[in-house]
Amino acid sequence: MPILLPRRGLLRTGLAMPGLALLGNLRVQAAEGNPFLLGVASGEPTASSVVLWTRLATQWRNGGGMPPEPVPVDWIVARDEGLRDIVRQGRAMAVPEDAHSVHAEVDGLEPDRPYWYRFTALGAATDIARTRTAPRPGMMSSRLRFAVASCQQYEHGYFGAYRHMLAEEPDLVVFLGDYIYEMSWGRNLVRSHEGPSARDLTGYRDRYALYKTDPDLQAMHRACPWLVTWDDHEVSNDYANDRGERERGEPFMARRAAAYKAFWEHMPLPPSARPDGPSARIYRRTAFGDLAGFHILDDRQYRDYQPCQAPNYGGGGRVTRENCAELDDPSRSMLGEAQEAWLKQGLSAERARWTILAQQTRMARLGSLQKPHTYWTDGWDGYSAARQRLLEQLAESRTPNPLVIGGDIHAHLVAELRPDFDRVERAPIAVEFTGTSITSQGGRLAGHYPDDPHVAYADGSSRGYIMMTLTPETATADLRAIADPRDRDTGISTPRRYVVEAGRSVLQRA
Ligand code: FE
Ligand code: CA
Repeated sequence: MPILLPRRGLLRTGLAMPGLALLGNLRVQAAEGNPFLLGVASGEPTASSVVLWTRLATQWRNGGGMPPEPVPVDWIVARDEGLRDIVRQGRAMAVPEDAHSVHAEVDGLEPDRPYWYRFTALGAATDIARTRTAPRPGMMSSRLRFAVASCQQYEHGYFGAYRHMLAEEPDLVVFLGDYIYEMSWGRNLVRSHEGPSARDLTGYRDRYALYKTDPDLQAMHRACPWLVTWDDHEVSNDYANDRGERERGEPFMARRAAAYKAFWEHMPLPPSARPDGPSARIYRRTAFGDLAGFHILDDRQYRDYQPCQAPNYGGGGRVTRENCAELDDPSRSMLGEAQEAWLKQGLSAERARWTILAQQTRMARLGSLQKPHTYWTDGWDGYSAARQRLLEQLAESRTPNPLVIGGDIHAHLVAELRPDFDRVERAPIAVEFTGTSITSQGGRLAGHYPDDPHVAYADGSSRGYIMMTLTPETATADLRAIADPRDRDTGISTPRRYVVEAGRSVLQRA
């Protein structure tokens, strides 16, 4: 019998729920309120598997409000929206050590098709959500549409961008960092973090939980799988390796461990991605048949410090080539030695039509308009030799059709990439689409940069995302700009559309 679920909120059914019998009434009463306040998510789709996520919490504050006991959570996966044709089901234990989060790895699925799923626990059920598997290796599918999103400062706006993304029905969302902001900043805030900067495990958990109460964010997670990576604000502004802006060594590493743990607890990542103290490997690869290979990078955990830092300050800054020799030091790395080697191997082996480098920040060189040009050291401009190595590697290995996607800068930026940006006579070897923020303010970029002519478009005036459409012949990037992040029902426009033809890393405006 089909079960009609309320759009949002609590379902209390008279159905036999095996988990309930184990618990008794006291436990259930202690967890009064909807334990699925934070919604659900799916991620890491392969041709046969997907990860389903939820976290039991009856409130976003105080670590979630659950009693400190393990709670069984049941999940089902079906071929149909009404959950009649069930193909997989299972039970996971939500344990207090992991903030009652659930990371269910579901395998044995068929490639390239949608599935619907639901969690139940404590007499409550989640909304039915949709996910999908990737095409199988060897199969060239006719189309993949994925959204590129980053930087969703909760206080700066509502997540109206996701309403429009939802309406576009992408196959996948690729999230490139700043899912939360550990700190409050900005002007004309529409809502509040209602707490100090996150520094410890409870602080980070509460911050993720607060963000995840947003209905538009929840709806986007219910609609399709996400591939996620992090940037700095999942820990602290501009951190590099074991150094924050004002902390370093042990105190910073304890903070990083708490932040990484909370990230994993709130993302649709597998149990194997669980951090080990302050270490967590999140760089990885995944493929959508023969159409697209994703190389998902981590440019925070292993990087060298930003060059030419001020004394007693650990973040980025603006420097010139003249006053900062360290800027071009070839021994410095953005990804770290092990990840660079892993990437080099992966790029050499890549056979998919499109190679997606899913990373955090702007890759194209971009100096200031005034001379001598200043360069921002927290992005790839602060790691120019590492950037050159990566771009030369792409050229040498003849990696098919590299597309670099990025976030962080709160601006749309479209560029052609060359190992040496001054040798404009050389054909570009990759194309970059860095997407603007969902809500985060900033992005002073605008207009034309005569000494950086590889940058085709730069605009930090609006919030939004990029919708990428890949076919075997073309990659199309629609740069979406919402009208007003202060309005959940904001309008949207498409200031630019670019097309790249397979075989030529050249931008064409369409
Ligand atoms: Fe950001
Ligand atoms: Ca960032």
